[in-house]
Amino acid sequence: MKVTSAELTISCARVDQFPKGPFPEIALSGRSNVGKSSFINKLLGRKGLARTSQQPGKTQTLNYYWINDRFHFVDVPGYGYAKVSKTERAAWGKVMEAYFQEREQLRAVVQLIDARHKPTQDDVMMYDWLKHHELPVIVIGTKIDKLPKGKWKQQEKVIREELQLEEEDQIIVFSSETGHNKEKAWSAIRSALNV
Ligand code: GDP
Repeated sequence: MKVTSAELTISCARVDQFPKGPFPEIALSGRSNVGKSSFINKLLGRKGLARTSQQPGKTQTLNYYWINDRFHFVDVPGYGYAKVSKTERAAWGKVMEAYFQEREQLRAVVQLIDARHKPTQDDVMMYDWLKHHELPVIVIGTKIDKLPKGKWKQQEKVIREELQLEEEDQIIVFSSETGHNKEKAWSAIRSALNV
């Protein structure tokens, strides 16, 4: 996929800030530190566009990236934040719920999971919740370069089983260090976007 243009256009803290246009979008979700910013930067070929290793506890926003004048990537804040207060968490939970439940432009969710480990409870909950809302999910197993190649297939199987991945959902192991499976990830995303 050739990325000719990519820019951060809006950071939304509230539902009424979501862009109104008809353009299709892909959401990206994962616990903090999973490698989400690195994934976005690698796919877009823009090194510093999505900030890596954001401070936990900062204002939570859905960040919209406008790509090739055709579609959006939506960077959803990492789940599993410890430092956010209960009230903040509840308010933010409502925004997230509205987003995943009602957003008509949303075509699929990329869920990032650390490929070195078994999915966490939060990972499993998130996947179940997305499926409950009948959203297509593309699972990306990050940091695969840190695992010896001989273990990749087995680890894919573990993730598939732990999440009880549905037949139509793919898992793609990925490395933002080496770019491994960058085109495969794009191909899954393009197919979901229909572009
Ligand atoms: P985010 O919090 O999910 O946005 O995670 P980041 O993209 O900031 O990555 C967290 C840390 O993991 C950073 O130190 C990255 O350099 C590192 N990292 C992310 N992806 C990879 C990867 O594919 N391979 C390796 N070896 N490190 C990675």
